Formats: sequence, C-alpha cells, structure tokens
Amino acid sequence: MPEPPASGHPAWQARPYWWDEVPPVAAHDTLPERTDVAIIGSGYAALSAARILGRHGLAVTVLDAREPGYGASTRNHGMVGGGLKIPGDLEQRLGRERADRIRKNARDSFIEFKQIIADENLAVDYSNSGRFTGAHTPAAYKRQAARGEELRRNFGYHTRMLPREEQHSEIGSDFYYGALLVEESGGLQPAKLHRAYLRLAEQAGGRIVGNAEVGAIEGRHGAFTLRTAKGDLRAEKVFVATNAYTGAINPHLSPFVRRRVVPVTAYMAATEELPEDVARFILPTNRMCGDTKRSLFAFRLSPDRRRMIFAGRARWRDIDEREATPILHRFMTEVWPVLKEYRVTHCWKGLVCFTFDKLPHMGEIDGLYYAAGCQGSGVVMMSYLGRQVAEKIISGAREQCGFDGLPFPARPGYTGKPWFLPVVGGYYKTRDALERRLVWADR
Ligand SMILES: Cc1cc2nc3c(=O)[nH]c(=O)nc-3n(C[C@H](O)[C@H](O)[C@H](O)COP(=O)(O)OP(=O)(O)OC[C@H]3O[C@@H](n4cnc5c(N)ncnc54)[C@H](O)[C@@H]3O)c2cc1C
Repeated sequence: MPEPPASGHPAWQARPYWWDEVPPVAAHDTLPERTDVAIIGSGYAALSAARILGRHGLAVTVLDAREPGYGASTRNHGMVGGGLKIPGDLEQRLGRERADRIRKNARDSFIEFKQIIADENLAVDYSNSGRFTGAHTPAAYKRQAARGEELRRNFGYHTRMLPREEQHSEIGSDFYYGALLVEESGGLQPAKLHRAYLRLAEQAGGRIVGNAEVGAIEGRHGAFTLRTAKGDLRAEKVFVATNAYTGAINPHLSPFVRRRVVPVTAYMAATEELPEDVARFILPTNRMCGDTKRSLFAFRLSPDRRRMIFAGRARWRDIDEREATPILHRFMTEVWPVLKEYRVTHCWKGLVCFTFDKLPHMGEIDGLYYAAGCQGSGVVMMSYLGRQVAEKIISGAREQCGFDGLPFPARPGYTGKPWFLPVVGGYYKTRDALERRLVWADR
C-alpha cells in the first residue's frame, strides 16, 4: 500500500467516502441503435428525467462517459434545501413576475424532493437537520441578518440569528462571529440517492449505458445521431445533462452549454471515526453547515454522526487528492483544534457548476434540451430541472417554470476552460484573510 499523505490515515483513499457503502455500478447496458430520447450524463438531472420519460412510455437511453454517477451526483456533500443559493437581487435583475416564479419553483423543488423520497420510499439517510451558516466577520453577521429576513419574507422560511456568545449550542468552535440558522434544509447520503434514482429510472424502462462518451451530436430536431465511444445512436430528442462536466471529458460536446458554465473543482475530506463525545462537541445539533467566506468551508457529520465530512477550496488551481489532504486537514483544525489528532481517511474532488448570472438554467436550443448550473446546490435543483426538462420534452411546452428559457449569459472569448480561476480565487482568499485580520486588529 502506498504511503498516505501528511495528515492521512494509513487506510487513506483518494475516492469519495460515500462509495464505501455504495460503490459505483458497472456500466451494465448495451447501446441500442435508436431511442426516443438520448440523455447525456447520468447524474440526478439525467435520472430524474429518465424516470418521468420512461413512465410516459418513451424509450430512454442514458449515456455516461464513465461509470453511471461518475460526476458530482455521487461526490457531493449531501446538503439539501430549496433556493438557499438563489440571489437576493432577482427582482431588480429580472422583474417581479419572473423573480416570484423562480422563488416559488425553488421552494417547491424542495417540497417535491422530500415527497419523492417519501412516496418512493428511498433509503437515503435523509435528516431534517436545518442549516448553519457561520459569519466570518461581524460585518458578515449583519449581512446574514438581512439575508435571513429576505428568506423569511420571500420564501416563508424559518430563520434565526445565533449570536457569537451562544454559538456553542450549535458548534464547538470560536471560529465564527455568530451564524444564520435556517430550518428548511436537510442532509442525506448522496451516493445512496443516486443509486435510488438509478433504480427508479431502470424500473421505468430506461437503459443506462456507461463507458459511452459522447462527442459530436449531428442532425436536427427529430433526427439526431450521437457519435459515442460505443458506436452511433440515433435519437429523436437529446437532453444534455452533463452540467459542470460538459467540457471536462469531451471538448466537442455542446458548445452552447460549455460556453455558459464555469466548472470549479471542490475538494472534500472525511476523517477517521471520532469518539462520540468529540463528534457531539464539534457539531452538537448535527446541522448541515457552511460559512460566509468567498473561499468557503462547508461541513457536516456523516449520517452515522461519527465522522467529519469537510469541504473547502484547497487550491484554486487543480491539484490531486494527495496534495489536498493536508490542506483540508489544516482548514478543519483552524475551526476545531481538537481535530488535530484525527486523520483523513478519504479525500476526493468534483466539479461544481457556476454560471455568470448565479442562476440555474434549463431550456432548449436547436432541438437540444439542457439543464445546468447550480452554484454547488444542485442535489434538489438538478432533480427538479431534470423532471421539468422531461415534461417539456413530453408536452413541448414552453416556459413551464421560472428557470426555463432565461437569458443564459456567456462571456466573449470564454469557451469553457476557466483560466481565470487561480487569479479570482487568489483575490477571494486574500479578501477573506484580510477581513478576518482587520477584525482581530480591532479587538
Ligand atoms: C464536491 C461537491 C460538493 C457538492 N455539495 C453539494 C451539496 O452539499 N448540496 C447540493 O445541493 N449540491 C452540491 N453539489 C452540487 C451537486 O452535486 C450537483 O449540482 C449535482 O450533482 C449535478 O447533477 P447533474 O445530474 O446535473 O450532473 P452530474 O452528476 O455532474 O453528472 C454529469 C455527468 O455527465 C457525464 N459526462 C460529461 N461529459 C460527457 C460526455 N461527453 N459523454 C457522456 N457523459 C458525459 C459525467 O461523466 C457525469 O457523470 C456539490 C458538488 C460537488 C462537486
């Protein structure tokens, strides 16, 4: 066995902790010659669409370049909510009517998501934990208060500000200057959710084909040919559900989506099992947590409440898991010095999908359907948009939901490779550090 990296446990692995319980499935189906709907990608969006389309009697083929679920859908943090990342300035940007629809859809997406878990009896370790967002400075705490008010007013959510003096009731750390608590939020095991969606899609008749990288999509509405690693596939309709991975695997796939999404690598680590009292001390109420830094930390306990699962931008350039491990461990111990003696057993990375207007998008262009862009909050939203795209394909309806057909901005010269990230990321980190240092100097 190779030496573990610094701060790594002897059993250290460069793969998601979630895969211990739910390893990737083998790419198990063969490619048909033709299909009614071809879906490229096999994450939550693809499988949600496949479930609906299959139940409607359509022949559906889901294609992934790697094993099914290779992308963000088995690598994420499993924090779920409805619209917590929707920007607060929607009305000014898009007008009242569109803003109201988007907020309603975002709220409904979470209600619908929980309903599917209940109706389909999905064993995904769901907990109604609520969300903690720590303020990295007193000024950020004040901004959080305004955001909490906005979430109460526009979403009807139950929010509460937790002052610094009281934060030990939620976190065993003095790292933050208080926090915003939102009750309408939960946590789950993301790979279990992906596996459950996969089963539902298969039960609805969907064919899931792995190792079938798609390159060019030729033809037109009603008569497409997809050139795949397993041969050609003719399809009446095509749904591009590759999100942040759109240009990452094949540089020719969907120039339209590629030019509009910014893939950012997120790094995650899981610790070895912690003693029960340590786990209870660091996160006594078992919330899903994030913070207000531009280069943010996000963290939670594993569903059995024994491990810390921690995410941070280890670097803003791409590094491997070996290099990321000690950096994430250091971040973790900045928040909880008590974690110094517990090592990292798993480290992994995945691509998060950002858009230039900070909004998710769906729609159709030249007969190709797409859904993309969740700013790191896509477990619920991509499930919802997958269903919306499926219904659009079935009925041909236009603008069924607020995210449908929104202007989807690109940037001149940008082709899908975010060369600017190390510069932007460096600025973010410097601003975060400077702001915290100014608070210290002011004490
Ligand atoms: C580390 C991390 C943490 C996150 N944490 C959270 C969280 O806590 N809460 C939350 O709500 N969201 C979170 N997210 C975001 C969330 O995971 C995603 O928004 C969601 O999983 C996206 O699902 P999807 O179906 O759109 O795409 P994905 O699951 O990313 O699937 C895209 C698929 O497309 C395939 N593909 C790409 N190119 C091709 C090609 N040419 N041919 C065939 N297939 C191709 C890829 O192999 C991949 O499997 C996180 C993301 C990451 C990376």
